[in-house]
Amino acid sequence: MNNIVPDLSSKQVWFLTGSQHLYGEETLRQVATQSQKIADSLAEAKDVPVRVVWKPVLTDTDAIRRAALEANGEDDVIGVIAWMHTFSPAKMWITGLQALAKPLLHLHTQANVELPWDEIDFDFMNLNQAAHGDREFGYIATRLRIPRKTVVGHVSNPAVTAAIGTWTRAAAGSDAVRNLKLARFGDNMRYVAVTEGDKTEAEITLGVQVNSWSVNDLADAVHAADDSAITDLVAEYLDAYDVVPELRPGGARHDSLRYGAAIELGLRSFLTSGEFSAFTTNFEDLGALRQLPGLAVQRLMADGYGFGAEGDWKTALLVHAANVMGAGLSGGASLMEDYTYDLIPGEEKILGAHMLEVSPSLSTSRPTLEIHPLGIGGREDPVRLVFTADPGPAVVAALSDMRDRFRLTINAVDVVPPTTGLPHLPVGRAVWKPRPDFTTSATAWLTAGAAHHTVMSTALPVEVFTDFADIVGLEALVIDDTTTTTQFNQQVRWNQAYYRLAQGL
Ligand code: MN
Repeated sequence: MNNIVPDLSSKQVWFLTGSQHLYGEETLRQVATQSQKIADSLAEAKDVPVRVVWKPVLTDTDAIRRAALEANGEDDVIGVIAWMHTFSPAKMWITGLQALAKPLLHLHTQANVELPWDEIDFDFMNLNQAAHGDREFGYIATRLRIPRKTVVGHVSNPAVTAAIGTWTRAAAGSDAVRNLKLARFGDNMRYVAVTEGDKTEAEITLGVQVNSWSVNDLADAVHAADDSAITDLVAEYLDAYDVVPELRPGGARHDSLRYGAAIELGLRSFLTSGEFSAFTTNFEDLGALRQLPGLAVQRLMADGYGFGAEGDWKTALLVHAANVMGAGLSGGASLMEDYTYDLIPGEEKILGAHMLEVSPSLSTSRPTLEIHPLGIGGREDPVRLVFTADPGPAVVAALSDMRDRFRLTINAVDVVPPTTGLPHLPVGRAVWKPRPDFTTSATAWLTAGAAHHTVMSTALPVEVFTDFADIVGLEALVIDDTTTTTQFNQQVRWNQAYYRLAQGL
């Protein structure tokens, strides 16, 4: 009901086909029919969540340039797929590619799977020559240094639609971040380095608008929450969670739950009126708020909002992006923090949590709603949801400001059940084993200078995050089954030189 994640089927990806007039009108008619069929298969593919829109075949420079400008002008168009069905001389694509401001996927495919060996003639050869038409396109795109994803294979191959679907999700994440307004309540946690960063550069690179508001503006909204709205929201809590007796109506601490509900109502009204889809708080700067926002933040993340604790706007934007990219998939996305380790050799596990703010979207079990003291912050005991993340494959990713670029470090992990029930740890939490193994992962993570805050996604594969990084122009470092310490260290070193050179003088 309150979910802010857009329906990805409302977003479009345009399917552009390249050809030329050399082969005559009949060939161009066949090109149009066949490319429509390919666009239709993509539109119908279950793993492509966006609307794929076929556009008339492009045969000259001006039409290509105008198609790019039209795509740029449509807010709902989040990307463009290009395929050179026949030979489309690539000089025709120069001005169009230079003008294109939307993410580009180069689909290297053809209409047929098998060659009709016994019937093949030169008309067939002329019609079905993406094998070299796409190479001509690849040349000019590379020469122009156009960032793009290249996908190779017939569209009936599930690996092809999966790769395209992944890229469309990344494009939707890029679109969300480009249009994101992020509210920071207070500033950064004092003395913390990695949560800092260049907010102006973030707006230049990613488009996100990061600005601060006084936490007392939020407190005003919280304290203005309507009494009957609070009662209704508490009823929703009673319905959705196992609420401990002391917080239930008539319970000794029911007022604390009502205050938690007021925080949620205040936050929602503040974020809605400012059109914010992500926010940060800082436990050192709570102004007139009587509790650190816990329950409210957890529920807002589950509704698609981005959140970062301690002023961490970089993780907040990642949490929102991951929520958008994972739309419609099972699993969720949350702020996560590497907290403490189980270091039994060969069985190492990471226990992740936060003071309060972990999204219940990581779990399919029914959370309990509890109240406990919080050792830091010096406020009243906060209400919070307690649960354990579901076991299964997941990704953690963190954004660091390396001064001349943003670096996204991505680790493939496996969420596992905790060794015991964690009866004395009343927070949302996840236990995981990082790939390829704990030692390699942690060594690489530290070498990368990656943060202690991450987004954890249990909905998305690593490739969505690398596609996202490529689209928005982030450096991406992946730690997965193939990672070795030697190779990772070299990559970090080479990237240091590459990104300095690539930004020019
Ligand atoms: Mn933290």
